[in-house]
Amino acid sequence: MEHNVSERQHMPTLDAMQRRSNWSEVAIGYTAEMAKLEASRCLECKNKPCVGGCPVGIDIPSFIGRIKAGDIDGAGEIIKETNFLPAICGRVCPQEVQCEQYCIRGIKGEPVAIGHLERFVADHMSEPVSTESQKKSGKKIAVIGSGPAGLTCAGTLAKLGHEVTVFEALHSSGGVLVYGIPEFRLPKAIVAKEIDELKKLGVSIELNSVIGRVKLVEELFSEGYSAVFVATGAGLPTFMNIDGEEAVGVYSANEYLTRVNLMKAYDSSYATPIIEGDTVAVVGGGNVAMDAARCAKRLGAATVYIIYRRSEEEMPARLEEVIHAKEEGIIFKTLCNPTKILQDDSGKVVGVECVNMRLGEADESGRRSPIVIDASEHQIDTDIVIMAIGTSPNPLISATTPELQVNRRSCIIADEETFRTTMEGVWAGGDAVTGSATVILAMGAGRTAAYDIDKYLSERSE
Ligand code: FAD
Ligand code: SF4
Repeated sequence: MEHNVSERQHMPTLDAMQRRSNWSEVAIGYTAEMAKLEASRCLECKNKPCVGGCPVGIDIPSFIGRIKAGDIDGAGEIIKETNFLPAICGRVCPQEVQCEQYCIRGIKGEPVAIGHLERFVADHMSEPVSTESQKKSGKKIAVIGSGPAGLTCAGTLAKLGHEVTVFEALHSSGGVLVYGIPEFRLPKAIVAKEIDELKKLGVSIELNSVIGRVKLVEELFSEGYSAVFVATGAGLPTFMNIDGEEAVGVYSANEYLTRVNLMKAYDSSYATPIIEGDTVAVVGGGNVAMDAARCAKRLGAATVYIIYRRSEEEMPARLEEVIHAKEEGIIFKTLCNPTKILQDDSGKVVGVECVNMRLGEADESGRRSPIVIDASEHQIDTDIVIMAIGTSPNPLISATTPELQVNRRSCIIADEETFRTTMEGVWAGGDAVTGSATVILAMGAGRTAAYDIDKYLSERSE
């Protein structure tokens, strides 16, 4: 039978009922045949509109062209020219609002599944032979934070011949990729493999090193570092400031996900405590909320709610995560907002008092603002409440580095083109500058900053 090019090859997934009780990766990945069929849908447009939608500018039609030709390693080389972490991006990028949004095929049907193809290439290309750059600059550079921004900056600088040390506060590197995004969406072995490749390029990583505590940013200069890239993310949780948030059973999504993912609370051979409720209510509509809700389901909760104050259309989560959450039985309570957390005499959560909302005019973010509907108070019974309503940068670095200016959202101020900060020799990028954003934007910042650091160092040694 002839292949219908208007039909996108859909990603095979584990059965929704089975996966609700295990931590295996939900999306299984294309077979070689599916990848070839999907690649054949690409028109290899001369003006490459999809590339304009990719924050790191991957040459998409060229890598898809190599898949068509059966040259997976060639496709991988093209992707890796601009993206160090394709197995990760292929899994977690919000492609529907990036490259795929601009795909010509999407005008009259479904766009080419660029993200699924990127993942296929990353998973099937031969092991790269990463080696240290032969060119040595003799310059030492410190990177603070080992999330996607820090890792990308470090890898790019190492390739340019610099000696790079990454300082990471936690006992494991990867940032949100390891402590936030769950195993069933991004297996940790994949993150570890991509980090190992960076190490082969000569990047060294010092774990358990909280900069601002074990040493200050300015001390790095006296230790011989010529430049510093701050990539400390946005790990400080936000709460709603409503009554009852101090009750036993209220978590920030950050704490909940860190316990589950990094500290493996789901594995009985680890001693990490976590409260396992029969009913769990997650407040928020982004990827973090979806991840927390799906973790709660896998930990055994019978009923899990997503409570979101706007409608589903405004949800910032990746479309695939919303679909997967629904398939797994998560109940969406949209246009609903908590006003109070209810607790029993012993201080344990027993419910959330909520009001219904309607949408008004668009606010400065372009999204329609939620407005409370009068006399719509109601109660949702629950044992656990997880707040997933946003995060901001941790103030430790800025508080201990007075020359580093921050804006009113506590984000480090950095030049949009170069990522230079207000302190000489210090760059910053990723969530620490933008507030909570995306993996690929953090990577893009890391890469651009690395080239600017290289330029700055070569100008100074002339
Ligand atoms: P981070 O990944 O936060 O890394 C910062 C690192 O710096 C951390 O390892 C931290 O421990 C370390 N650090 C902090 N302070 C110090 C210090 N003082 N000294 C040393 N080290 C320090 N984005 C997507 O594109 N797709 C998704 O599907 C997606 N899902 C998400 C799910 C969750 C649960 C979360 C929380 C975020 C998600 N995001 C997603 C957002 C994305 O993960 C972030 O935008 C991205 O990780 C930011 O990268 P970063 O390198 O700036 O910071
Ligand atoms: Fe291929 Fe779509 Fe990009 Fe055109 S816009 S080159 S069809 S992926």
